[in-house]
Amino acid sequence: MTSEPALSAGKVLRNIAGAVGDVRVFGGPGRYLQGPGAIDLLGGVVAPFGRFPAVIGDRQVVTMLRSRIEASLGAMALQPRFGVLDGEITRDAIARLSQGLEGATLVIGVGGGKSLDAAKGVAMTLSVPTVTVPTIASNDSPTSAAIAIYDDNHVMIAVDRMAASPVCVLVDTALIAAAPTSFLRAGIGDAISKKFEAEGCMAGSGVTPFGTRPLLTAQAIADRAYTTILNDAEEALAACERNEVTDPLERVVEAVILMSGLGFENGGLSLAHSLTRGLVRARGTREAIHGAQVAWALLAHLAADGWPDEALRELMSFYRRISLPVRLEDLGMPDPTDDEIEEIARLTMTAPHLANFATPLTQAAVAAAIRRVEVVAGSA
Ligand SMILES: [Zn+2]
Repeated sequence: MTSEPALSAGKVLRNIAGAVGDVRVFGGPGRYLQGPGAIDLLGGVVAPFGRFPAVIGDRQVVTMLRSRIEASLGAMALQPRFGVLDGEITRDAIARLSQGLEGATLVIGVGGGKSLDAAKGVAMTLSVPTVTVPTIASNDSPTSAAIAIYDDNHVMIAVDRMAASPVCVLVDTALIAAAPTSFLRAGIGDAISKKFEAEGCMAGSGVTPFGTRPLLTAQAIADRAYTTILNDAEEALAACERNEVTDPLERVVEAVILMSGLGFENGGLSLAHSLTRGLVRARGTREAIHGAQVAWALLAHLAADGWPDEALRELMSFYRRISLPVRLEDLGMPDPTDDEIEEIARLTMTAPHLANFATPLTQAAVAAAIRRVEVVAGSA
């Protein structure tokens, strides 16, 4: 074994699979813990990985949880160091944090997506395992090996991938329930698309983020994420509004963080996520949270896939019940012009996941799907 950087191990895995053709890969976190008070189990979870864990979070989260984390780690005789993330996840920010935390035996990310991505980036730089402790459930990044990298102008420039998934994802549902409901609603939006993106990937010649054809397991998981959301999202959001942990909330958090993450990493992304390439740059929609963009984008994905108006209307009425966006106006773009729709479609065509749609797509077909969603939403 050579001591190659962790990133290239991921590439090697892709190359091996590509070279032998039909090898398929399933990857996921080593452990997943979920429940109220789970954060107090952190010490026991990380103790096997060495005595010097690093903890990375934004200032607010570190202030809120530091003493609890220190108590849990201290009970296992661990000596943590804390790194505070200020601002964007740039390559420079990751390098700076890594320098300050050299010698860490493991990196724990606590907080929202940026804190978890920073922890993953530092873990990758230091070649040590990572543990994610999401305090909101706005997307499935805690489960995934992906790291979104930005430049100083807040533009995403790359998605890096760790060679290994987090060794543990620890979700304290009391923290999730106490966080603003809008985050959980966004997480639902991010998760609801995964069934259909995986289906497209499987039906065509698509590949997962591992670069391989999907196994059936991911489809089964993504399907269950979808039905869980249909059955439980309304009650889960109501519970979150009351800051209360209930069974529906537990099930929806599992769908949003675990099932959605396993579903996309092993089942593949497709048109719905490709559309976010356009939405993150377009008027108004660029301000919308990722999960809201994905929820709306799923409607265009299904329109492009030939769903009849009636089926689209039914899904839209579910969206309306849980306040997910059905029109571009709901995403922040009232009265979209033809040029604006074309530009979203043009940028969508640059996304690599687009090749995971069941049939080849053109820019005109994507633009037509967006227009159809606008029309159906207007008539619903
Ligand atoms: Zn997503």
